[in-house]
Amino acid sequence: MQRTAKSAIVVGAGVIGQTSAFRLARAGFSVTMFDPSPGHGATYAAAGMIAPSAEIAPGEEENYVLQLRALPSWRSLSVELSEVTDHQVDIFETGTLVVGWDGSDRRLMSQYAQIAADFNAEIRSVSRNTSPEMFEGISGRITDGIFIGGDAWLDPDQAMRIVGSANERLGVRLVHETIQSIRTTPDGVEAISAEGEYRASIGILATGAEHLPHGAEVTSENVVRPVRGMTVRVRGIDRSAQPTIRAFVHGHFFYMVSRPGGYCVLGATSDERRDPIIELGETQRLLRDALDVVPALDSAAILDSRVGLRPASKDLRPFFEVLAGGRWAWSSGHYRHGVTLAPLAALDALEFAVATT
Ligand SMILES: Cc1cc2nc3c(=O)[nH]c(=O)nc-3n(C[C@H](O)[C@H](O)[C@H](O)COP(=O)(O)OP(=O)(O)OC[C@H]3O[C@@H](n4cnc5c(N)ncnc54)[C@H](O)[C@@H]3O)c2cc1C
Repeated sequence: MQRTAKSAIVVGAGVIGQTSAFRLARAGFSVTMFDPSPGHGATYAAAGMIAPSAEIAPGEEENYVLQLRALPSWRSLSVELSEVTDHQVDIFETGTLVVGWDGSDRRLMSQYAQIAADFNAEIRSVSRNTSPEMFEGISGRITDGIFIGGDAWLDPDQAMRIVGSANERLGVRLVHETIQSIRTTPDGVEAISAEGEYRASIGILATGAEHLPHGAEVTSENVVRPVRGMTVRVRGIDRSAQPTIRAFVHGHFFYMVSRPGGYCVLGATSDERRDPIIELGETQRLLRDALDVVPALDSAAILDSRVGLRPASKDLRPFFEVLAGGRWAWSSGHYRHGVTLAPLAALDALEFAVATT
């Protein structure tokens, strides 16, 4: 590939790579994106929650503030995508209902409520008596909970289809190859696969939790470790007009995102390893938690289960690092919020590309 005046290479076609490619292509860059299995990294397993308040964790104040910007960014991105494809990404602003299963789970729920209040999140106590519709399908032993306003969700499969189609229309070239090494030249970048060498003015590494290609000179500051997670998809009950359920159950975290038509995403496991195998035991524990909290799922049909590696940085914050030489940048560390933060990561990529070319 010959370099044109404004050209970019994007390595990795997960949600971060695809949205970055869209921003660059829309700004007039000639973009080539590389991925041996586009969209089948962490993005494939994601539930699609844009849930800054439900995801609140002590010490993650900056993440929280960043995520609050994500929902308006997704709305604008969705409008821009529809200008190119005639299709919008549907964003459902249902909020979240947090509940606890037994006494100790309810104590965890109260601790969460305290932290959320400290963050000034939009929360209020709700009960089965006052808001019966919110508790539809949920076990009768759960009689109260905390409602979080402002949280939303989208379907990552739909979002990836629409961004992918927009990129195709904007002329983004998708090459199904693994980039093995990268280089910086005096006036641009090179990416090398087993099949060939490719050149452009700038390059973005959006490789999620995978190892970087050889030659990527990163600072010692940023390291990414994989936090594996698994979700199960079922067709069962339609709670799409109700808040996403988040439960503390048997000391674990469980969530259920319900889409129109009864498609539900149940999640998620979390452990620090790279193994892509989905184990029977973890599936059994997740489904036990699901059935305890939402017994109405008893006759749901299992559709599939998916596993992915969340890219976690040392401080659990996303980063956009410009590498030595100034023409490659590494966009990662989005951990459990990559779908949420993708439109913001794409803006970082655009800002870098414009400043560098
Ligand atoms: C179970 C689970 C549930 C989640 N739920 C949510 C959620 O509800 N909301 C939310 O916001 N986030 C969620 N996340 C987090 C989110 O999925 C990730 O943060 C996000 O997908 C990261 O996107 P990415 O593009 O960086 O990585 P990925 O999606 O992993 O994409 C990286 C891509 O790079 C490619 N690649 C790697 N190396 C190379 C190379 N050398 N050459 C070419 N291609 C390469 C890979 O093939 C892959 O396709 C969840 C994650 C998991 C695992």
